[in-house]
Amino acid sequence: MVDIFSSLNINLTKEQIRKFEEFAEILKENNKLFNLTSIKEGRETQIKHFLDSSAGVDFFKHNSTIVEIGSGGGFPSVPLMILRNDLKFTLVEATEKKCIYLEKVRAALDLNCNILNERAEVLGKNPLYRQKFDYATARAVARLNVLCEYCLPFVKIGGSFIAYKGEANEEIKEAENSVKVLGGKIDSIKRYSLPEEEGDHCLIKIDKKISTPDIYPRGNGKERKRPL
Ligand code: SAM
Repeated sequence: MVDIFSSLNINLTKEQIRKFEEFAEILKENNKLFNLTSIKEGRETQIKHFLDSSAGVDFFKHNSTIVEIGSGGGFPSVPLMILRNDLKFTLVEATEKKCIYLEKVRAALDLNCNILNERAEVLGKNPLYRQKFDYATARAVARLNVLCEYCLPFVKIGGSFIAYKGEANEEIKEAENSVKVLGGKIDSIKRYSLPEEEGDHCLIKIDKKISTPDIYPRGNGKERKRPL
């Protein structure tokens, strides 16, 4: 595991290695029951889930609040929390059984996070969560134009949405209108390659410049059926 992380210049402490190993065990034990990932082999999990999730570790300011949309098996949030215990995460996951699994992970690894079993488009309208976070993040949930409507409503003006993507040139073009309508602006795109030819990925930083208009997210599945 240490060699894999050093490929992204991340040096793990003993405690972080222990937590990643424990997380790998919980993921493996619960995968069949909760349908969390198609990746079964240990080293592949370390590269495609643990390392990929960790690639965004330096994007978040000290002590910041982050909402993650569509946590699933806990990516990228759990690796980020193992690496940065100053970050305060809220995990939003639509599927109840995945939230039960995430609760197990939270308790076992003593993570500092809230877990909410709800759809992003419902919580994004709730004044308790709307424009309340320094950052939103998501990986493997929807195309970028759809994801912006799920994520940008949660972000404070001055904050950012950090999207984990594969090779996303087409998606970035396709999302130009969505980003603008929802009050964002693409700030930067960080490209990186996973070791052992596991793929070229990128992190897209979208800054929140102005308030998201009240009508978004539209709800009732419109985000996916008729993307902005
Ligand atoms: N982020 C994880 C990862 O990278 O492995 C999980 C990806 S999984 C393919 C997508 C997850 O997003 C599923 O667990 C699904 O239930 C959740 N999801 C999809 N749409 C959602 C929405 N609108 N609100 C909350 N969760 C959502």
